[in-house]
Amino acid sequence: MIAFLERFVHENETETRPGDDDDASLLRGLELQGTIDFVRTAAAAKDFGGIIEAKPLAVIRPASREDVVRVIRAASRSAHLTVAARGNGHSINGQAMTDRGLVIDMGSMETQIEVVRFGDSAYVDVGGGVLWEDVLKRCVRGFGLAPRSWTDYLGLTVGGTLSNAGISGQAFRYGPQTSNVTELEVVTGKGDILVCSETQNAELFFGVLGGLGQFGIITRARVPLQTAPDRVRWIRLVYVEFKEFAGDAEFLITRPEGEGESFDYVEGFAFVNSDDRVNGWPSVPLRSDQRFDPSLIPGTAGPVLYCLELALHHHNMNNNNDKDDDPSTVDEVMGHNLGRLRFCRDLKFELDTSYMEFLLRVKRVEQEAKANGIWDAPHPWLNLLVSSRDILDFDRLVFKNILNHGIGGPMLVYPLLRSKWDGRTSVVLPEAKIFYLIALLRFGPPCPKGPAVEELISQNKEIIQCCIDHGFDFKLYLPHYRSEEQWKLHFGDQWSRFVERKDRFDPLAILAPGQKIFSRTH
Ligand code: FAD
Repeated sequence: MIAFLERFVHENETETRPGDDDDASLLRGLELQGTIDFVRTAAAAKDFGGIIEAKPLAVIRPASREDVVRVIRAASRSAHLTVAARGNGHSINGQAMTDRGLVIDMGSMETQIEVVRFGDSAYVDVGGGVLWEDVLKRCVRGFGLAPRSWTDYLGLTVGGTLSNAGISGQAFRYGPQTSNVTELEVVTGKGDILVCSETQNAELFFGVLGGLGQFGIITRARVPLQTAPDRVRWIRLVYVEFKEFAGDAEFLITRPEGEGESFDYVEGFAFVNSDDRVNGWPSVPLRSDQRFDPSLIPGTAGPVLYCLELALHHHNMNNNNDKDDDPSTVDEVMGHNLGRLRFCRDLKFELDTSYMEFLLRVKRVEQEAKANGIWDAPHPWLNLLVSSRDILDFDRLVFKNILNHGIGGPMLVYPLLRSKWDGRTSVVLPEAKIFYLIALLRFGPPCPKGPAVEELISQNKEIIQCCIDHGFDFKLYLPHYRSEEQWKLHFGDQWSRFVERKDRFDPLAILAPGQKIFSRTH
């Protein structure tokens, strides 16, 4: 098909720099099936974080993986062009951006979501730019099947989360999404299309998983499926003491997998002991008709309380088939599991909902935040993985001190098991067997109604510095550093493996320049 090239560069609208015209002519000869847009690039210059801006030379909307190959090869023929795959642009710190380079809009590629079966096992083959919410809908509605491991919010792309880890309340059992993929198709930084798995091109496979986009662009992933439950019993339990909250959470994630022995989802969050609508008691109930009664909080409570969030899958009670779970059985399992926990007995909130509703729960937050104008405001989020060894100190120094007034959004804290993460991937973790995901998801109104972004960023830095000063075993999740020295520290003894993978699969450092790990070479 003839290339479709849009170039309406108005001198007043677009700044150019020496070499841009050469790059544009290079791209003009590409014969893409998709499009190249030199004008409407503003959306690709921003991301969900709203902190960093970098204007690309052009946005490419590829029609096929061959287009991705052509773009990468063209970039390698230029002296300085870089290529950033953009999933849904939900990064916080410009990770999917490129300054004067080429952004590949992965969402414009064909939306491949195909269920395949090998013997008794089912998988979904899915394009790298597909949103997880579309994977969910297709697999559940079409086949009664679902992937095992999710993120909380599903408006993220398959390629984007696999380039990081992809964590939610199922990860304690199945590992992150990077532990739940059996095959990838990748276009490397050399412009080669390779299929890779644990047994085929394994170095590329493990490199790309959690590889921050450094080694190749994921154009397809094969994700194992299991039977989807119909319904979910969703519970929130309030704790006054962090030690008991953490102890119970760790108890639950280390239970054996057998029927009825544990939950299917374990998360938690810290909240402020006040009536603040966003940060306090009202953030806990699951339904608008449930009320948090503060008179039930024990007098020993401090400025911050904790909520364990659990879910138990079950099958529809109205379908009348063999798989149905009797409501009393669900209650029995719940009773059995909850009886062993140390939450404030009367501060328990419960909701029975459909599996889809449960997994799409953050969509409602998105809709509300969009209506309030908060979705498009800056989001200086901070995500950390902190060793269980240091988590009590983290609570004392960070939740109870630095953040004791809240952050204008959820402060997630829940444990994960290192054994469920594959050490061959590029993800770096704390050393402990159990570590906590800490996600500070700031959703406050922008300045002047809320604090200035700079203030929030400096609070994030204070938290990181506190972890360093106290010698915590921790890593940034969705890391963002600006210098090679910092990246070396982040990767620790995995740095040399990361560099070797880069030399092998993207020797000119064309890919994902927004991560600021490597610089483009000639
Ligand atoms: P982008 O931000 O567009 O890209 C991220 C990085 O991956 C960039 O470096 C980009 O170049 C690269 N990349 C993108 N696509 C590809 C591809 N196909 N091949 C290779 N590299 C690629 N994370 C969790 O783990 N759990 C959560 O529960 C969770 N919830 C979130 C909720 C919200 C509201 C938001 C905004 C983010 C959340 N995240 C969560 C973080 C999310 O995982 C990251 O933002 C991640 O980067 C995915 O976003 P994206 O698909 O938009 O990718």
